[in-house]
Amino acid sequence: MTASSEYRDFVRQIVEDDLASGKWGGRVHTRFPPEPNGYLHIGHAKSICLNFGIAKEYGGKCNLRFDDTNPEKEDVEYVDSIMEDVRWLGFDWEDRLFYASDYFEQLYQWAELLIRREKAYVCSLSLEEIRSGRGTPSEPGTDSPWRSRSVDENLDLFRRMRAGEFPEGAHVLRARIDMAHKHMLLRDPIMYRIRYAEHHRTGNKWCIYPTYDYTHGQSDSLEQITHSICTLEFENHRPLYDWYCEALGIHHPQQIEFNRLNLTYTMMSKRRLLLLVQEGFVSGWDDPRMPTICGLRRRGYTPESIRAFVAYVGVTKNNATMDMVVLENHLREDLNRNAARRMAVLNPLKVVITNYPEDQCDELDAINNPENPAAGSRKVPFSRELFIEQEDFMEDPPKKFFRLGPGREVRLRWAYFITCTEVIKDSSGKIVEIRCTYDPATKGGDAPDGRKVKATLHWVSARHTVKADVRLYDHLFVREDPDEVADPALDWKSNLNPASLQVVTGAMLEPSLASAVVGDRFQFERLGYFCVDRETTADRLVFNRSVTLKDAWAKEQAKG
Ligand code: ATP
Ligand code: MG
Repeated sequence: MTASSEYRDFVRQIVEDDLASGKWGGRVHTRFPPEPNGYLHIGHAKSICLNFGIAKEYGGKCNLRFDDTNPEKEDVEYVDSIMEDVRWLGFDWEDRLFYASDYFEQLYQWAELLIRREKAYVCSLSLEEIRSGRGTPSEPGTDSPWRSRSVDENLDLFRRMRAGEFPEGAHVLRARIDMAHKHMLLRDPIMYRIRYAEHHRTGNKWCIYPTYDYTHGQSDSLEQITHSICTLEFENHRPLYDWYCEALGIHHPQQIEFNRLNLTYTMMSKRRLLLLVQEGFVSGWDDPRMPTICGLRRRGYTPESIRAFVAYVGVTKNNATMDMVVLENHLREDLNRNAARRMAVLNPLKVVITNYPEDQCDELDAINNPENPAAGSRKVPFSRELFIEQEDFMEDPPKKFFRLGPGREVRLRWAYFITCTEVIKDSSGKIVEIRCTYDPATKGGDAPDGRKVKATLHWVSARHTVKADVRLYDHLFVREDPDEVADPALDWKSNLNPASLQVVTGAMLEPSLASAVVGDRFQFERLGYFCVDRETTADRLVFNRSVTLKDAWAKEQAKG
């Protein structure tokens, strides 16, 4: 149990109050109930951390349950990915993996029970007629002409629906509640519809499928869930959740709603994320620009950083949009502590050290992570020909540019001070090489005479480099809110960022990176945090930039 002085969100407060009052006999049992119709996203991570986290903190249990009542949209590919993602986030459902489809027979039997109790009836109106008969929030609905069918007739029709005697849309099973109920969802809601669709688990066994509302609470009940935690949009479903449990007289968990996670510059709708995949705007569900768990993983996010972010965000009753920078900062914090520093040059400019002998090579000591002494150090080779970043040199530098220019001295990280003596251009006037001298007395990066330089550049030794392709990312959408469009004729897709991916081919890396394997994370000094992509092969390293060192806003502030 958590220490009594700690802040508790309202969900944990409810759980603690229930433990104190003995409401559930000291039990805490939650579940994470994804529908396997897409990959999980960062919003789901919030729900996962909340449900599994509460179970862990209060000595309870959390189930993984696939809410698979919609055969047309669901697939085992999604089931598998969801299990992988929950595990990767660090949670374990032990032997409690469930599927709502496992309860289809029980749900059917309960439906017959409700018919016998005159709390359900077969309605033969069309879906359109049902919808229009429901009324509006200010006007009551009208009773279906089929509302007073006898129990026997209802049982007969319902059994024949199951047996496949009717076409889709001919009948539905509805709960008999109240067509004037103040909650629209309780105006005789649909419990079952006819669908001749193959289900990824039950195959063609069923041609009637229960609705979400008729399934969810009963599944919770069957699993003896105590706290059924879901997002705020289900608040108006709660009276129905309660009604089914009461009408059936079964274990009745408490539904508790919390705010969804939303992030700027992206979106959390599985339907839209699927569109991005299907229409080729991204390379797949795990494209590193996607807000999916697998996309974030491929981008270089750690489970720790996502859990820390979710804990920071907290749970409330107010829907709000979190700034993407907050997520990125949690990754920066984690990687700053845990990722080894390396040197890499994305846009190489050749530097020749004219007073350094051609056949010589220094092995210089470079610290792996100043934040973590245990990470030790490595050797980086220094030789006559080096690469620095093109943007670290200017022939005619403006006032605020402190890096290399003609006649200037700068420090090469872990190496020496160098001074630029000559600029070599091709016939078009493009700078192709610069010549420098180095000061052997500054080995390691400090001058014995105490003289200072204004810049420290990263670099690599030309003949020792490892080449790589490096992918740099920007936001998936150009607007904080992708739904905000200037012209009503446009939709959210018009806000997709055409510059969200930039591929740098032929980046030059220090030789120690030759042994990097898929998933390894590094800080490339001055460039950001990078992760080895799964498309890396024996002869081609591919890196994704996970995040820059500072966010763009902070950079602007620092510039003053
Ligand atoms: P989508 O609208 O993207 O299809 P969903 O809510 O329908 O998402 P489910 O598979 O039903 O997706 O979600 C499983 C669980 O995750 C639910 O309890 C749901 O409330 C929760 N969840 C989904 N999206 C978010 C989010 N953005 N923030 C927090 N929890 C979420
Ligand atoms: Mg859902």
